[in-house]
Amino acid sequence: MKALAIRLLVCVASLWLAGCVTDGPATAPTPETAAEAGADTGPPADAQTAPELYLQASPQRRLYVEVAAVAGCAPSNRTLDRLRDFLSTYCDKPDGIEIDRGSEISRAEARGLPPRALARRFMKGPPEVAGTPAPAYLYILYYDSDLSRKPCTQGTNHWAATAYAENQHPHADLRPYPAIYMNVRYGFQKWVPNEMLLHETGHVLGLVSRPDFAKNHHCLSPNCFMNSTIRVSLHRAFLGEPATRQMQLCGRCMTELVRRLKGPPQTNVYFAGPVLVRTEPGYAVLSLPNRVALILGHLTPQDCRDFAAETQAEAARPDDDELRYRGVAKDDLLAEPQRLRAAVEQAEQDSQPNIRRMAGEIWQKVQSHPAGAPAKT
Ligand SMILES: [Zn+2]
Ligand SMILES: [Zn+2]
Repeated sequence: MKALAIRLLVCVASLWLAGCVTDGPATAPTPETAAEAGADTGPPADAQTAPELYLQASPQRRLYVEVAAVAGCAPSNRTLDRLRDFLSTYCDKPDGIEIDRGSEISRAEARGLPPRALARRFMKGPPEVAGTPAPAYLYILYYDSDLSRKPCTQGTNHWAATAYAENQHPHADLRPYPAIYMNVRYGFQKWVPNEMLLHETGHVLGLVSRPDFAKNHHCLSPNCFMNSTIRVSLHRAFLGEPATRQMQLCGRCMTELVRRLKGPPQTNVYFAGPVLVRTEPGYAVLSLPNRVALILGHLTPQDCRDFAAETQAEAARPDDDELRYRGVAKDDLLAEPQRLRAAVEQAEQDSQPNIRRMAGEIWQKVQSHPAGAPAKT
């Protein structure tokens, strides 16, 4: 009897929890997104996020996954094999799914930088091959939060403290730019590395957005890896068994993915290199990790390359985890004020408040500048 009691105690003591803080699209410390962070009914309708781009064969028939890692943090081949199996099961990509390990980021280069700043600086994007259509693109970063500088605001309600705490957890950003950030220091992640990565990938593919048997974008099934908590049993692990029972998706989550796979396609969202592009009448919205550009006028592939190059060339700072917007009216519109006004009015109807605000600021700037001067904000 005593032996049984001790064994039960070991079982209880070895049950650990590995949670997720991906609460939907909001991640940035702005009033706009902070208001949405508490939503518990699935991601709000938002043209910028596009799980369909990953799931469906149109408009991009190929998927390129870049797995970047700070030295000492890289995932195992087994973890990436599970990722490949998961993506191959649910993503209809007739021209293939490629998972590429990016070049290693040295610990010296990573020191002091939050994960999104690392992403902006070291993201390579899919190789451009002449005559080959651009693929859908997913960026995954493995990093060590011990290398990030702890803000002096830690332990307070300041947004920097919130961002630091958030960066401790593996998480998927959905907006403004879909990407996965895996902190190898987090809790018991090392016991369930496959399930933690699949969980965050599930968020990028749109899980969990249904209203039934779900809460805060997570599945309520205790055996599904889209549950908000991956339960880890060290007892099972020490016996040589899988450390968690949550190795698969439940039927409801499978059905949800298939429904989205077969649903209406996105027609105005695509990847140009690493840049997520959303085109609207008269303007386009480009995004990278915590960077968004509003382009008024005719969008060209070079605009996307320029945005990527400018973002990568930014001086990375330890305290820079803010969401930033920039806006520009292109020369073709500046020469035609009526068309410019029409594009501004369109952008002022955008689904995102910051894009609406940016459009108004560009218009104010154009009005206050002499004809021909560039309008940038
Ligand atoms: Zn989650
Ligand atoms: Zn589920």
